Amino acid sequence: SKILVTGANGFVAVWLVRTLLERGYIVRGTVRSEDKVKFLKDLFRDYGAKFDLVIVGDMIADGAFDEAVKGVDAIEHVASPVHFSADDPQEIIEPAVKGTTEILKSVIKYGQDVKRVVITSSVAAIIRPVSSPIVLSERDWNEPAVKEVEEQGCSASAVIKYRASKVLAEKAAWNFYNQHSKSGISWDLVVINPPYVFGPIIHDVPNPSALGVSVGQWYETVVTGSQDPETTLGGSKGGIGWVDVRDLAEAHVRALQREEAAGERMIVSAGSFRYQLEWHDLVNSFDPSPIPSHPNLPKGNPGSSDKNYLYWCDSSKASRILGMLMGERIRYRSMEECARDTLADFEARKW
Ligand code: NDP
Repeated sequence: SKILVTGANGFVAVWLVRTLLERGYIVRGTVRSEDKVKFLKDLFRDYGAKFDLVIVGDMIADGAFDEAVKGVDAIEHVASPVHFSADDPQEIIEPAVKGTTEILKSVIKYGQDVKRVVITSSVAAIIRPVSSPIVLSERDWNEPAVKEVEEQGCSASAVIKYRASKVLAEKAAWNFYNQHSKSGISWDLVVINPPYVFGPIIHDVPNPSALGVSVGQWYETVVTGSQDPETTLGGSKGGIGWVDVRDLAEAHVRALQREEAAGERMIVSAGSFRYQLEWHDLVNSFDPSPIPSHPNLPKGNPGSSDKNYLYWCDSSKASRILGMLMGERIRYRSMEECARDTLADFEARKW
């Protein structure tokens, strides 16, 4: 069957497109501009007509996805602004929310064959500030971020603006779905909520400063040391969830396939991390190093943090429904595999 993937040139989406193609799906991707086309066409050259791209220049325009949804059997809506630099909160909230509602509107109008819409939300839509450790689950919503943005506007932090955009976009999707499902629609909705996504990259990134926020932060902390883990979210102060991008892509594919996923939001997390314990200590233990061009990887402050993570993500629903397992039968990639492959990737790029 044919799957539409929005924002097909992004970090997560390129892995998703690749995984879908490997499983025999036909994929149509959307990108914002013509200059994104060549790289992707080259990357997926072997799939010929099984991979095509359409340009959706402005996803918040009325009817933006009308053409793109025609003839597809399911949709993976991955596109959303991912940056921590918004000034006016609407810069990030509007495309996140309207991008989501526009695609659902187009599905109602022209998506006769669509049976499922999978939306990439985030643990950003779930997490909330706490002073003692908690387990986050799908019952939680990051209402505090929305409130903070309402109250503080431009002066709210850019991270909070991003989180509010993910809450509001996901809520808009559920509201739209609940409203329309009463009158009988042919499709159902599934939402995937990943925490920090790490891992090797296969999208078009000319240099490390163009890495997205998650791998960019990992690179600057674990490889160059230009960020201090104490001050980053995954730092020694707290600990938060992570998942390897390849497993996240797999979860998105399974979200299409599993009947029981209908109507569910699911946290897809491989566990929690602190930069010190997991990544610094881990990458410094590799022998031989997967990234010999950086012989002195930052060490952080060994011994300075423990495994009392502030946030633990309950990912049992994704284990039950999507079969994403931890522990004995490892389905999620381990930190070791993720870190090794990411460093080898940086090495190959001479970063
Ligand atoms: P990327 O920045 O690599 O990809 C984002 C994609 O969305 C790009 O294709 C981008 O297009 C597109 N996009 C951004 N803004 C707009 C806009 N205004 N109009 C149209 N398209 C737009 O991010 P990721 O791959 O990391 O993120 C993908 C999804 O996963 C997002 O929904 C994100 O919120 C979610 N997520 C990511 C996490 C992470 O740690 N990376 C964690 C949790 C959730 P262009 O390249 O043209 O800008």
